[in-house]
Amino acid sequence: MTSAQPIDELARRLGERLKADRLFRPGDPSYAETTTLWNGAVTSRPALVVRPHTGAEVAAAVTSARESGVGVSVRGGGHDWAGRALRGGLVIDLAGMRDVRVEGDMAVVGGGGRAGDVIAAAAPHAMNVAVGTAGAVGMAGLSLGGGYGPLLGTAGLAADNLLGADVVLADGRLVSTEDDPELLWALRGGGGNFGVVTSMRVRLHPDRGLVGGMAVFAWKEASTVLSRFAELIADAPDGLTLLLEMTVAPGIGPCLVVVPVWSGDPRQADAAIAKVMSLGTPITTSVGATTQKDLWGQFDQSVPQGMHWDLRTRNVAELSTGVIDLLTGWADTRPGPGAGIGLRQFHGAATRAGADDSAFGLRASHVAVEISAGRLPDEESAAYTGWADDVSNALAAVSLPGGYPNFLLSDQKEQIAHAYGAHSERLAKAKEFYDPAHIFTATPLPGRDALNI
Ligand SMILES: Cc1cc2nc3c(=O)[nH]c(=O)nc-3n(C[C@H](O)[C@H](O)[C@H](O)COP(=O)(O)OP(=O)(O)OC[C@H]3O[C@@H](n4cnc5c(N)ncnc54)[C@H](O)[C@@H]3O)c2cc1C
Repeated sequence: MTSAQPIDELARRLGERLKADRLFRPGDPSYAETTTLWNGAVTSRPALVVRPHTGAEVAAAVTSARESGVGVSVRGGGHDWAGRALRGGLVIDLAGMRDVRVEGDMAVVGGGGRAGDVIAAAAPHAMNVAVGTAGAVGMAGLSLGGGYGPLLGTAGLAADNLLGADVVLADGRLVSTEDDPELLWALRGGGGNFGVVTSMRVRLHPDRGLVGGMAVFAWKEASTVLSRFAELIADAPDGLTLLLEMTVAPGIGPCLVVVPVWSGDPRQADAAIAKVMSLGTPITTSVGATTQKDLWGQFDQSVPQGMHWDLRTRNVAELSTGVIDLLTGWADTRPGPGAGIGLRQFHGAATRAGADDSAFGLRASHVAVEISAGRLPDEESAAYTGWADDVSNALAAVSLPGGYPNFLLSDQKEQIAHAYGAHSERLAKAKEFYDPAHIFTATPLPGRDALNI
């Protein structure tokens, strides 16, 4: 709880430093818009929201909050399932900073830019960008936490493509990573723990012609499809990156949706995609030559909206028979149609980034398992949360230590302790250096409990 006095003090300071139209309070239409997140289960609400338009305005907001003793959080695309955008008395909403400018093979992206904004700006230049599977996700939130995506095999993680950033630090200074390589290292995977990114330089990749889409397989084929999927990803060329969802599709029921994206030499695409089609007998397919804009448009249509979510994550080194049996068995016990298990392949270019290039913890090939329990707003949460926990606990014995930080909760201490591997100590030092008072609470960092607020 934030008492009225510091909030009044904060409102006064912000009023002195910023235009009145930058500030929203409960009851304002823009307040409601900002505080509505993708995960409808998040109920925390800040006392004030500020929507800055420049780095200097972000600095004024951070300074005002610190001087008033009010906690801050940062909202980008609002897609963090754990609701970390809405922690503290003041939310800094970066929706007013979504500009994207393309300069050769680089995009300069405002701190509130979404993945879809960058895709749209890069498209006329015949360029692609390493992003996740949803256009509405914030480019900074995605990149700072890591950023698995369908171009990962050829382009690496989103974090690997973060070339530089302008950042407002906890003391209110607006700095550039050009003068501070350690800050860039920490931002590439260490989350929003070090400051507010007001602008990013993001590497773009020439569009060589993508081939991708979705192929749906019946659930009765699950064991066969997953075994062949395991063989395929164990041997996949960099150009082929695969995702798989064990889900329930309208009109089909329980099924497996395989999402192949080919981003390598176009002459090898057909052979690679043919292997995906022979994972089983597809019920429906929509795979073909495409552009990033069109393909992501297709992905965005499949993102569920308006639901409440619980999410757990594990990494497995490979899809062994034991792992496959666990996954199919637990998928069969899903508490409702919105609950499912997703697999994200980590391979190729993403495995080759040097340890000193980024804080991201796990560079060995692996499969990230996403256990997502989505329910309708009026459904009881207990069965869904319990299922997600049970699946995660069952997988623990066959998983690698740690997990994808963007999906971890602060009370998952055991996973957090290993999420950054050998980088933990360096990250903890960076946190103490850049944000000694722990103004910014973001994805959980290993180390002292105080870091995992
Ligand atoms: C539908 C959906 C699809 C997804 N797909 C993928 C995927 O394919 N691959 C993947 O890796 N992840 C994926 N994610 C996870 C996503 O990358 C993270 O949840 C990410 O943090 C969301 O960023 P956001 O800006 O939208 O979130 P927000 O909720 O707005 O922000 C979350 C946190 O990110 C930090 N942050 C955001 N912007 C800034 C900034 N400018 N400066 C400093 N800190 C900032 C802050 O700590 C903030 O609290 C997906 C999530 C959803 C809901």
